[in-house]
Amino acid sequence: MGYVLSRLWSYFSGREYKIIIVGLDNAGKTTILYQLLMNEVVHTSPTIGSNVEEITWKNIHFIMWDIGGQESLRQSWSTYYGNTDFVILVVDSSDRDRLSVTKEEFYRMLAHDDLYKAQVLVYANKQDIEGCMTASEISQSLRLTALKTHGWHIQSCCAITGEGLNQGLEWIASNIKR
Ligand code: GDP
Repeated sequence: MGYVLSRLWSYFSGREYKIIIVGLDNAGKTTILYQLLMNEVVHTSPTIGSNVEEITWKNIHFIMWDIGGQESLRQSWSTYYGNTDFVILVVDSSDRDRLSVTKEEFYRMLAHDDLYKAQVLVYANKQDIEGCMTASEISQSLRLTALKTHGWHIQSCCAITGEGLNQGLEWIASNIKR
């Protein structure tokens, strides 16, 4: 019901921008979504399928899809790609072991036709964890500077406190193609 109302609201109040939030399970996607929505931490359980919310930020309407990141669910990511304006890739900066899996999934998704126009915001999440990778280490490992097909930006953040999340949205807002 909330979703239907939000669609109606968007219909009458102007263009909405579609964002999909992807990343491996446990990266912090759902925590980020609800921190952006309500400015508070929610207790999450693994996402089966997706969560969708409308977020209005500085008068811009976003429809944000948080897509489950477990291995068995990643194959269905492409069903969410149509008309995506921005991809938010969430990385658990403390999970060194799985950064190569993130990289593999990331490039697989960017190669998809439905995402050729999408721009990418990478959240280097969980910066509060001691010994975690910095945004620049993650950027190097993901080879972001070599990425020429999509606009991109990396932002370090902590979804628990919300630190860094708004800066990421600022980048999105200033890169919207109206
Ligand atoms: P998802 O599977 O990517 O949606 O991840 P969740 O949002 O469910 O978060 C997975 C776990 O990581 C939860 O226990 C969160 O409380 C925790 N978490 C999320 N963001 C942060 C963060 O910035 N720092 C820390 N320390 N834990 C976080």
